[in-house]
Amino acid sequence: MEKLRTFGEIRIIPETIGEAGLERDVSICPEVVQGVLDNTDLSVTDPFHVHFVIEKFIERIHVSVDVIGSVHTLCSRCLAPMTQDVNLHLNSDYLSAASDMQGNLEAQRQARETGYYRKEIQLGEYIVSELVLSLPIIYLCSQDCKGLCSNCGTSLNEGPCACSQQWDPRFQKLAALKNNIRR
Ligand SMILES: [Zn+2]
Ligand SMILES: [Zn+2]
Repeated sequence: MEKLRTFGEIRIIPETIGEAGLERDVSICPEVVQGVLDNTDLSVTDPFHVHFVIEKFIERIHVSVDVIGSVHTLCSRCLAPMTQDVNLHLNSDYLSAASDMQGNLEAQRQARETGYYRKEIQLGEYIVSELVLSLPIIYLCSQDCKGLCSNCGTSLNEGPCACSQQWDPRFQKLAALKNNIRR
């Protein structure tokens, strides 16, 4: 598999693509992925794998992309180290840019699935912006992570802490009270 040092190297020159289209697999170095994510809470230790298929139609070029990798971080609730898998499926049409379109064509997208190109399709730029958007704001080691006790800091995923045992009798009384009210 071809190893790339930058996402920018993922470029397609439509003129060079024949009727059969194009299919490619590339891998992106962990440091490069880490660089584009630009988030000190995330670390990337393994290469990202990018697979893309290009189909040429009369007035448009269709690109489908799979991005597979993983990032390491800490759970937002319990602070345990965790790995978040990245498994991104992208689809975009590319149309020939109008002559009055200026500057960065990625910024000209009117719809998420329609991009523009001049001589080259800057596929890497599209992948980077979708990759950054796809990452969660809050990372959870599991959907039902119980987090840390706000009193003693123990991870409640490992069972109740001493504080909750102290509180138990009160909760039991409260539960009994609620039951009485219901009756
Ligand atoms: Zn957690
Ligand atoms: Zn506690």
